Amino acid sequence: MLVRRRRDVVLGAVIASGLSSLVSMGLFAGVAHWRGDAIDPFWLAFAGAAPIAMAGPTVAYLLELLRRLAGAKLELEELARRDSMTGLLNRGAFFEAAEAAIRRARGNGRPLTLLVLDVDHFKAVNDSYGHAAGDEALRLIARTLLAATRRSDVVGRLGGEEFGVLLEGAAPDEAALVADRILSAVRLLDFEQGGERVPLSASAGLAALEPGLDLDGLFARADAALYAAKRAGRGRARHADPSSGLFVARRRA
Ligand code: GH3
Ligand code: MG
Ligand code: MG
Repeated sequence: MLVRRRRDVVLGAVIASGLSSLVSMGLFAGVAHWRGDAIDPFWLAFAGAAPIAMAGPTVAYLLELLRRLAGAKLELEELARRDSMTGLLNRGAFFEAAEAAIRRARGNGRPLTLLVLDVDHFKAVNDSYGHAAGDEALRLIARTLLAATRRSDVVGRLGGEEFGVLLEGAAPDEAALVADRILSAVRLLDFEQGGERVPLSASAGLAALEPGLDLDGLFARADAALYAAKRAGRGRARHADPSSGLFVARRRA
C-alpha cells in the first residue's frame, strides 16, 4: 500500500512539475510577447526549470509525511490489539492469534496447548482493598505471566481476572510444567496493601489441540478443565483429558 502511494506521489509530482513547467514557460513567453519584448532564452529556461526544481523537495516532504502516517497507523493498530490496563493482548487479538496458531499447528503437526487462568477469590481482593488495589494485582499477574512464559508464547487478558496463554510446540506434559511454574509464581507474588502481604492464587485449565477440534472446542475444554480446577479446591491446574472426558491432575500446582 505504502509502495503504491509512494509511486503515486512520484508519478503525480513528475506530471504536475512537467505541466507547471510548460505553463510557466508559456506564461513567460506570453507576457514577453504582450509587452513586445524579445524572449530571453535564459529566463525562459529558468521559468521552465523552477517548477521542476521545486518538485524534488516537495516530493521528499510528501514521502516523509507518508512514512510517518504509515508508522502512526501501525502504532494505532497495535494499540487496538492491547488491553490498556495490562498491556497484554486483548480478548479479540488473543482469539485471532489463537486461530493463526491453530492453523500453524495443523500445518506443521506440532503440539499446541491452551492454558486459561483465573485468579482465585478475586472479588475478595477488591472488596477488602479496593478496586485500584485489584487493578494493581492484575497488572502484577500479567507481568508474572510474561516472565514465566517464552517470548514466543502468546499471552492475553481474556477479560476481568481471566487470562489465556497459548503454548505452541508444548505437549500436555510440558504445558503442565508451565502451568505449575505460572501458578507458583502467582503464589509467590509480593502483593502488599497497607504494609501487609496479600496472598494471591490462581487456577488453570489446560487443553491440547487435537484433530477435529476447533478454536471454540479448544476453549470449551480449557474452560471445563478450569472449572474442574476450581471445584477441586483452586490454586491448581487441571488438564482436559479427551480420552476419558474426565479432568486429570497432571501435577499439583
Ligand atoms: P473464583 O475463585 O471462583 O474465580 O472467585 P472470584 O471472586 O475470582 O470470581 P468472581 O467471578 O466472583 O469475581 C471476579 C471479580 O473480578 C469480580 C470483579 O469485580 C473483578 N474484576 C473483574 N475485572 C476487574 C478489573 O479490571 N479490575 C478489578 N480490580 N477487578 C476486576
Ligand atoms: Mg476468579
Ligand atoms: Mg473469572
